[in-house]
This record gives sequence, C-alpha cells and structure tokens, in this order.
Amino acid sequence: MNIKCPCCKNMTIYSPENLFRPFCSKRCQTMDTAAWAEEEYRIPTQELAMPSETDDDSWLLS
Ligand SMILES: [Zn+2]
Repeated sequence: MNIKCPCCKNMTIYSPENLFRPFCSKRCQTMDTAAWAEEEYRIPTQELAMPSETDDDSWLLS
C-alpha cells in the first residue's frame, strides 16, 4: 500500500517493512516530531501575545 508521507508528501510504502511509516524516512519522522514539539511550545506564547483570540472563538460558539 502506497501512502503520501505527511511530512514531505512523497509517496512511500505503508508496510511493516517501512520502520518510519507513515513517514518515508527517519528524517521526516524526526522533522514531524520536531514540528509537534515546536507547536506545543508556541501555544503558550500565542496566548500571551493574543489573549483575546480564544475568547472570541468561545464567544462565537456560544
Ligand atoms: Zn517524507
């Protein structure tokens, strides 16, 4: 089964032989993990910079 690597969008094989699935390579797996870490790190910074953004969202939903 062929899938697209979520990181670089290259086609890769989704099988037990691909140790890095759903990624095409160790590089992409590492890149994605780094992106996640960066995302988690960025959230508190955004809340500090724009405290009203989340408030606006909950106001629109309710
Ligand atoms: Zn990739």
